[in-house]
Amino acid sequence: MKTVRLDKLLANLGYGSRREIAILARNGRIRLDGAVLREADAKIGIDEAATLAVDGEPVDPLPGFVLMMHKPVGVTCSHKEAGPLVSKLLPERWRRREPAISTVGRLDKETSGLLLLTDDGALLHRIISPKAEIPKNYRATLARDLSGEEAAIFASGGLMLEDEDKPLLPARLDVVGPREAVLTIVEGRYHQVRRMFAAVGNHVERLHRERIGGLNLPADLAAGDWVVLAPGEVEKVF
Ligand code: URA
Repeated sequence: MKTVRLDKLLANLGYGSRREIAILARNGRIRLDGAVLREADAKIGIDEAATLAVDGEPVDPLPGFVLMMHKPVGVTCSHKEAGPLVSKLLPERWRRREPAISTVGRLDKETSGLLLLTDDGALLHRIISPKAEIPKNYRATLARDLSGEEAAIFASGGLMLEDEDKPLLPARLDVVGPREAVLTIVEGRYHQVRRMFAAVGNHVERLHRERIGGLNLPADLAAGDWVVLAPGEVEKVF
């Protein structure tokens, strides 16, 4: 069975330096499966590690986790955009984790909806790889009435966005109302949905991602809230 040193694990989860964790352990503040564990250098099975508790609170998600967030409008996925980062919505300690947590792709500041975050680099690349062609659904509210021609243009696979030299892959548009539609794209180009509507003479006023692959944003997950996905749940993406 794979084992891990208690102090290394908790240090990588952001609970403090190894020295600080040794003090926590000595003071009886760490429990494993309910029993006080005073040795910071104890080797524990990776399966048992999920039963750790610090100060009576279950340990944070172990490395290799994925969380689903309902990203609100006004927070950013990148330092390049001004404004508070999505990581500010997570517990402060999580910013000190090793490996660090990253967003799986990006939503722009004014876009809300389903955003995945993970510390699993291999999984992240599996999802965002252009080869994966994972469908993503966006509900767009538009400034002008749809003309009725957009679905065919988007489905054609020939649409060229400004300043690009490669046409877009076919995308599906489901019209919901005169100024509302759900667009499904399998790529992730910069501001793709907004630029696609701009290319057909419209303007996106509100944009919300509802789904990635087969993973839906739950209706009861409020903007700003997040949940850690159960093991296996992330496979719905593929
Ligand atoms: N397309 C956009 O224009 N913005 C996003 O955030 C995602 C897709």
